[in-house]
Amino acid sequence: MTATTLQRAFCLIHPRREAAARCTSCGSPFCRECVTELDGRMVCGACYKAKTQIKEKPKRDWFILTTAVQAVMGLAGLWFTFWLLGQVLVSIPSDFHEGKIWEKMHFRRQ
Ligand SMILES: [Zn+2]
Ligand SMILES: [Zn+2]
Repeated sequence: MTATTLQRAFCLIHPRREAAARCTSCGSPFCRECVTELDGRMVCGACYKAKTQIKEKPKRDWFILTTAVQAVMGLAGLWFTFWLLGQVLVSIPSDFHEGKIWEKMHFRRQ
């Protein structure tokens, strides 16, 4: 009973083709063309893609990349803050130097 149903399973992508193997990942029946061997296991195209994509992009690389980007962004932000502070400090003390502070210094020296 179960043997006949298993034998009469058809490929999920090719409904007219009889299934040759079942995907070890999702369990769906597929024909020989649709299954690929991955680490000694038969998997369908979708599962193969999903598994290889995870392998190609490990989380560590993303972590390093995001940390690097965050570091650069942080440095850029710090630099911008310091640049802004510098601009403010350069524009304001010029009035102080030419004005009150130097006058006071001269007064004190004399
Ligand atoms: Zn699958
Ligand atoms: Zn197929």
